[in-house]
Amino acid sequence: MKKLCREVWVEVDLDAIKKNLRAIRHHIPNKSKIMAVVKANAYGHGSVEVARHALEHGASELAVASVEEGIVLRKAGITAPILVLGFTPLRCVKESAAWKITLSAFQVDWIKEATEILEKEAETDRLAIHINVDTGMGRLGVRTKEKLLEIVKALTASKFLRWEGIFTHFSTADEPDTTLTRLQHDKFISFLRFLKDQGIELPTVHMNNTAAAIAFPEFSADMIRLGIGMYGLYPSAYIKQLNLVKLAPALSLKARIAYVKTMRTEPRTISYGATYIADPEEVIATLPVGYADGYSRELSNRGFVLHRGKRVPVAGRVTMDMIMVSLGESEGKQGEEVVIYGRQKGAEISVDEVAEMLDTINYEVVSTISRRVPRIFIRDGEILKVSAPVLYV
Ligand SMILES: *Cc1c(COP(=O)(O)O)cnc(C)c1O
Repeated sequence: MKKLCREVWVEVDLDAIKKNLRAIRHHIPNKSKIMAVVKANAYGHGSVEVARHALEHGASELAVASVEEGIVLRKAGITAPILVLGFTPLRCVKESAAWKITLSAFQVDWIKEATEILEKEAETDRLAIHINVDTGMGRLGVRTKEKLLEIVKALTASKFLRWEGIFTHFSTADEPDTTLTRLQHDKFISFLRFLKDQGIELPTVHMNNTAAAIAFPEFSADMIRLGIGMYGLYPSAYIKQLNLVKLAPALSLKARIAYVKTMRTEPRTISYGATYIADPEEVIATLPVGYADGYSRELSNRGFVLHRGKRVPVAGRVTMDMIMVSLGESEGKQGEEVVIYGRQKGAEISVDEVAEMLDTINYEVVSTISRRVPRIFIRDGEILKVSAPVLYV
């Protein structure tokens, strides 16, 4: 770690990810596979390492948001099935087939045109497709039985595509009112029954995200798509208080103090806008983390970090690359470790707490930690790997 020249980093506890996978595994039916959702750089945790680790500990497939995210995993040597959850324009179909990346589809014309595109390619294998059914998410997906049947027919007729899965996505599975989730589930099941009644054999069926896998394990079907829970975070406070699955957060954000001073001389103003005025005996530490690292500017004069196991407040505005924190009248040393998200000596600043302060959800807090922050992967208590995007000297 002494190798980092800018001393802020994410620690990813791979053992926690393993435990979370195991906890979910025990909660859902044996026959349901786990697809590890590693979109957005594995919710900020580092997609290649998390994907590899998840595949070693109970996941058999991966999901990403785009073909590009899938290619990153393929280039790292990962051979497991990778499903793109988002929309893929036709011009990326060739590339997807070449990299053996599975696509989601929900439009007949798209299926037909994708077939025509691949027809022109001599040597590629069939491109695997999962049909996305919109039962109430209102984002992507086919919305009627008739259209679904048309898609299935076009897909099964195609010599260049392979129908591998069918799925839907819940919009309120993390909420106490289960009405819409049940309605979405029932609608999806009725669509599947309609296909079966036409003599159509179904491929892999999946619908559950983390929230549904916890609250409705009986809806786990052939596979669940596990995102936030794998990272040890609950989809909502409601899902957490159900107390059905015990999860441990895998991510911490840490830094080392860049500079410490006592504010003896005037002016005792701190940061842009001079919104904070320190006392003469106040000790101010500067940390190398700012909003360009994903530490929100909304935490100006509001956030806290842990120093020597104690909460200390952010003093003044968050700047692009640095923040100042007040150590009160306690001492602090240049190079000392502080915890921005995570635990230190029994104290904790949870991602959930920061999310609440920012009026958002834990998903956003972790997934917006930017690429320039190095990720350090810890396995069996030891550093397995450091992934630093820019430079690691
Ligand atoms: C992101 C996503 C998931 C994972 O959701 P979590 O709440 O993180 O488990 C599953 N399915 C789809 C379609 C998604 O977009």
